[in-house]
Amino acid sequence: MNSNELFKSLFNDYDNYREKKLNSDFISHAQLKELIAGMQTNNLFRIEKIGESLERKEIFSAVLGEGETKILAWSQMHGDEPTATSALFDLFNFFSSSDKYDDLREILLKKITFHFIPMLNPDGAEMFTRENAYSVDLNRDALRLQSDESKIIWDYAEKLEPEFGFNLHDQNSYYTAGKSNNASAISLLSSPMNYVKSINYTREKSMQVICRIKEALSLFIPQNIARYKDDFEPRAFGDNFTRNGISIILIESGFYKNDVKKDFVRKLNFVALLSAFKSIAEKDYESIEHKKYFDIPENEELLFDLLLRNLTLNYNGRNFKIDIGIKREKKLNKELQSFYYKSKIADLGDLSIFYGIEEHDLTGYQVIPDNKLNVDEPADLKILFNGQLKKEVRNGFIIEKVK
Ligand SMILES: [Zn+2]
Repeated sequence: MNSNELFKSLFNDYDNYREKKLNSDFISHAQLKELIAGMQTNNLFRIEKIGESLERKEIFSAVLGEGETKILAWSQMHGDEPTATSALFDLFNFFSSSDKYDDLREILLKKITFHFIPMLNPDGAEMFTRENAYSVDLNRDALRLQSDESKIIWDYAEKLEPEFGFNLHDQNSYYTAGKSNNASAISLLSSPMNYVKSINYTREKSMQVICRIKEALSLFIPQNIARYKDDFEPRAFGDNFTRNGISIILIESGFYKNDVKKDFVRKLNFVALLSAFKSIAEKDYESIEHKKYFDIPENEELLFDLLLRNLTLNYNGRNFKIDIGIKREKKLNKELQSFYYKSKIADLGDLSIFYGIEEHDLTGYQVIPDNKLNVDEPADLKILFNGQLKKEVRNGFIIEKVK
């Protein structure tokens, strides 16, 4: 099998390895612990508790392989970005299996020692927030190392001195691959090391591996791969690790049409990581011209969840043409362990350079900017949710007094 055939085959066989206990869009710490406990009885993995979060939740590393090349991969440094964590457990299942991919497993485990840290920020994961327990973004704490979680990853990397680091995140659904309406399903970054974005040997290697990932993913999503903006952030981990000689490959799981639960993007992560590992094990990235990295279209923030085009707004007796861009934020209802969405008008005016995940041309329709308050008679919640609410909204009421 050549590489392309192999990646296509892995893509098709992915369901054999998918960790069915995990949803792609939310993972509790208890779920993580249960799976880790299962791995402890499997002698393929060396499981270690490497510390605790501020809320005293255990953080684990899973080590496997005997190879000379050391790889450190961590996920969910941002609590509300769980896609890669679920993909890592899919990978663990892949490594624990035995089938027609045994040759691939053998070379990976012979050439590489993997250090995986799934869910670096369990407190944020549990609350579904980007930040940690005291509301600090860990990825802006690489200099001060104030949070326990930051210290854990920093000390681990310092002790291990890996050659490659995989920094695994989710990005919002508004990015596109270049100036197009193609949502960026996966975006990739070779983390910079300074403001002038110098390219040294460390960065060249991460760029080369990224080119290999891009080749593999192009088999499935040729239009939906982007290059994350490489502005230097002195407080971020990837940037500081690059300075310390670790080739950092940042993978952002983005949005793909009709993949609200991110199952498809999770599967892409699985293939992306295996393609990178294979390339590192075989060192075949070395033959790639690193400048090809810049051929990957840059991430542009050009999408709204809903774009309403060509409305007419009447103001002081005059008509104006406007577009309205609406974004919806995903929020966790902790008690119900379910998500809800909070929508808001993110922008209005000439939005002709933007696109909507859903969009409508509303030429001939008028906007009535009249926020009506229905406060006369307190409504009964039951009646409201039994269809009355829709009627009220249609009549322009956005605030409702309830019993
Ligand atoms: Zn992130």
